[in-house]
Amino acid sequence: MAASWVLSECGLRPLPRIYPQPRTGFASQRTKLFKLRSLSVSKSHNLGSSFKVSSWSKQRNWQLNVAAPVNFTTVSREEDKEREETNEEEGEFFDPGAPPPFKLADIRAAIPKHCWVKDPWRSMSYVVRDVVVVFGLAAIAAYFNNWVVWPLYWFCQGTMFWALFVLGHDCGHGSFSNNPKLNSVVGHLLHSSILVPYHGWRISHRTHHQNHGHVENDESWHPLSEKIFKSLDNVTKTLRFSLPFPMLAYPFYLWSRSPGKKGSHFHPDSDLFLPNERKGVLTSTACWTAMAALLVYLNFVMGPVQMVKLYGIPYWVGLFLQ
Ligand SMILES: [Zn+2]
Repeated sequence: MAASWVLSECGLRPLPRIYPQPRTGFASQRTKLFKLRSLSVSKSHNLGSSFKVSSWSKQRNWQLNVAAPVNFTTVSREEDKEREETNEEEGEFFDPGAPPPFKLADIRAAIPKHCWVKDPWRSMSYVVRDVVVVFGLAAIAAYFNNWVVWPLYWFCQGTMFWALFVLGHDCGHGSFSNNPKLNSVVGHLLHSSILVPYHGWRISHRTHHQNHGHVENDESWHPLSEKIFKSLDNVTKTLRFSLPFPMLAYPFYLWSRSPGKKGSHFHPDSDLFLPNERKGVLTSTACWTAMAALLVYLNFVMGPVQMVKLYGIPYWVGLFLQ
């Protein structure tokens, strides 16, 4: 109920449920294809509020089923069987490889119009707020300089470093503002500050979004074939598949991508990039280098131990939270 209230208060309309609820928790052991009862929405491709849903789905809380079921209601085997029989009669089978019963345009139409308005002043206010918090946290930690405060600082600052990444991510997507130059300048400042080459990452991130879940072409999600897995040396296997190493792998990914892929986010001639993107990649690598030089300089000014406490550990915490 609370979920539906929040959705209606935000002006959001729910997406239709297309997956049957698991019987208990996440693990449903059925191996046969799921069968779905017909939803009128699947025929009309309409995401409006006038869904006609089947009787079984009416009884469940399906308002937030965009990602995962909110409520794991236990479904009895009898009820499940009855549902299957009904579906069988109707001859409708759930094909996991089939396109969803709605299109991207339907999702766009379901999002309230005001969510599409980009306000650069508002976006910049988030940047200013986050930068003030980052420097404020560092000043507080340096002032108290004791072992109760440092761990708290590392956690909070690691979260803030991740917040800076997310704002730069919005610049990369062009959702920060309608001005590409503003997006680029702010994106460079934010991402360079946490040692991410802005354009190099932005372009490969675009490749990721264009190939979600594609076993070969997705840039961020890259499962290995058995052949490549077997060709890896033990050190690479440990670093890639044993916790906590994979959670700290991001800088290495930026440097040399995933195993089996060539190129680097720092190198303009990498096959990640088109020829007309090389200048931007070079600019971002130069900004990254300037930030690295600044950190080296600060090492001499403040001492390496203080720098590890103020920047090094939050940087790794940020990667870990990522
Ligand atoms: Zn993205």
